[in-house]
Amino acid sequence: MDDRTLFLKEITEAFGPPGLEDAVAAILRRRTEGFCQIGRDNIGSFIATKKGTSAEPKVMVAGHMDEVAFMVTDVEPSGFLRMRPLGGWWPHVLLGQRIRLRTRKGEFLGIVGSKPPHDLKPDERKNVLEFNDLFVDMGVGQGFDVVEATGVRRGDFAVPHGPFETLANPNQHVVKAWDNRIGCALAVDLLSELRKADHPNTVYGVATVQEEIGLRGAATCAEQVMPDIAFAVDVGIARDTPGYKGGDKCQERLGGGASVLLLEGHVVSHPRLVRFVLDVAEEEKIPHHTTSLEGGGTDAARFQITGRGIPSMAICVPSRYIHSHSSLLDRRDYEAALKLLVAVVRRLDAKTVARIRG
Ligand SMILES: [Zn+2]
Repeated sequence: MDDRTLFLKEITEAFGPPGLEDAVAAILRRRTEGFCQIGRDNIGSFIATKKGTSAEPKVMVAGHMDEVAFMVTDVEPSGFLRMRPLGGWWPHVLLGQRIRLRTRKGEFLGIVGSKPPHDLKPDERKNVLEFNDLFVDMGVGQGFDVVEATGVRRGDFAVPHGPFETLANPNQHVVKAWDNRIGCALAVDLLSELRKADHPNTVYGVATVQEEIGLRGAATCAEQVMPDIAFAVDVGIARDTPGYKGGDKCQERLGGGASVLLLEGHVVSHPRLVRFVLDVAEEEKIPHHTTSLEGGGTDAARFQITGRGIPSMAICVPSRYIHSHSSLLDRRDYEAALKLLVAVVRRLDAKTVARIRG
């Protein structure tokens, strides 16, 4: 594996539920130490600063470190665990999957229990289970005390178990947590790329905490940095699989390049900033497409309404099957997004930023 693939494997496999992202921050620190000034906000977000040929303007590029995960809410007398979701889960994708539970005694594997079809009544087969119906099996059995062996207690965190692997298509990697370790990787790799080229500004490569449970680190980071322009870097939703039918919903696809998010829910990306980014992509012939999100949103939504307002937008890497154990992306799209960010940041001097801000 080359250095970048190893880095992507390490960062996606890291344990980082909302609220406990330290393992991810440690990897990002190692990747930026020596050429950036490193800081945190008070709830754990990571902020690496790289000054260019001018201190102003301030440009922030931020991924989020947390992943959709679980918290233990009950240990039944039998030893089975009950959990609550952290972030948006469709319980359908969880049955029979493995999770990694972290306790004061270490890390342990568990299984989300499911009934075999033999025992399902006809109406049960049609139902989607509610999260409350799910339970986790840590190896419940005669003569084995789950609490004693694992040290599990209420409040412990678990994440999906979904290791990094490459498909027959050598550009496509499957792993848990592309959402949004790919954004964290982009934020710090942008900083390393900028070592090779001048940039007329100060760049903040940021990795926020607790995005999946309400854009919380986005609020504190934007407040701390107070940038002139802010980009969220996140996964986009590739709608190139069976089940999506034509029209504008099919805009984003794996291998289509970087994607520029025009609209997320009710949040409009800053139009002059979007136009600027699309112009740069065309000028530099960087593969790209535009997209929109009907539900959910990115940290850009929070950046936009910080202080007196910050022109913000999101640049994404298309991904299939996010919020599951097996998310998929094409590394060429990651490289396109990185190239686009470098080209954009190198052009954001004081005059250009003033023109965009209007
Ligand atoms: Zn997400």
